[in-house]
Amino acid sequence: MILRLDRWGTKLPPPSDPDPEGAKAVQELMGGRFGEMSTLMNYTFQSFNFRGKAGARPFYDLIANIAAEEYGHIELVAATINTMLTGASPIDDGRAPKASLAGVKGVGSPHHFLAGGQGALPQDSRGVPWNGDYVFSSGDLVEDLTHNFFLETGARQGKLKVYEMVEHPAARALTGYLLVRGGVHQIAYARALENLTGANLMKLFPSPRVRTDQIPECRPHIERGDHRRLYRFSPEDYTEIVAVFNGPHPETGEDLIVADGPPEGAEPNDLPPQPAVFAPDYAPEEINEIATRLKEKAGLK
Ligand code: MN
Ligand code: MN
Repeated sequence: MILRLDRWGTKLPPPSDPDPEGAKAVQELMGGRFGEMSTLMNYTFQSFNFRGKAGARPFYDLIANIAAEEYGHIELVAATINTMLTGASPIDDGRAPKASLAGVKGVGSPHHFLAGGQGALPQDSRGVPWNGDYVFSSGDLVEDLTHNFFLETGARQGKLKVYEMVEHPAARALTGYLLVRGGVHQIAYARALENLTGANLMKLFPSPRVRTDQIPECRPHIERGDHRRLYRFSPEDYTEIVAVFNGPHPETGEDLIVADGPPEGAEPNDLPPQPAVFAPDYAPEEINEIATRLKEKAGLK
């Protein structure tokens, strides 16, 4: 089971200038082959399919626990796309049946306006849906861990490229955070393979060959120690990750540490309605009034 917290993994800036083209590029980090939906679903299925857990618990715990963190990464990518799309259609004059969407014809991804309410979609930067063929779950632990190291390496390259392509502050905050967290996962799988086989994958870091501390948006997370900390995403379970996630960080030499609980995270931003795309309605104030009445009836403030 999954326990859900209504927090974001990191703080994102509030909406500023909309950037629908940038939002389309950021979709690659959602539904691309190396995007966050892929990391989430790869580790989720590998943990579902894991056999002989009793004898291999630290490795099972590692994969299952990282899967839980990836859920929060999907949430952050979506929040970034939604932030970048806020204000892309007119707000004051945005009510049907006016031609309010004429201004976004040919801008960014048409699906963001036509198939969604200016929100993230489970698609890549081309608008191609994420698909289950991106999931690799062989059942062979060495093979799966090697795949996961490769997946995190590809994910890191994808984040670096989106960082370079998109200057919007929300995209920069997202990629800065995900590069640091993905780096931890990359190390975790390399160290798991090293502990299991003796192979020294630590010589492959950083991969791609760009030091994480060269990226300004990564530095606050590094200063907080998030580059060497694996969070345990469960009230009581997945405690055996400490048996695998240990030793020195390959880039800094500092000790890797396991944090006993989820990160504090940040309060989610409440993004404003976009009436031109009916999100949440062409007249959101009517929903507000109904919700207020229902809350009063339920004894809520
Ligand atoms: Mn991730
Ligand atoms: Mn990851």
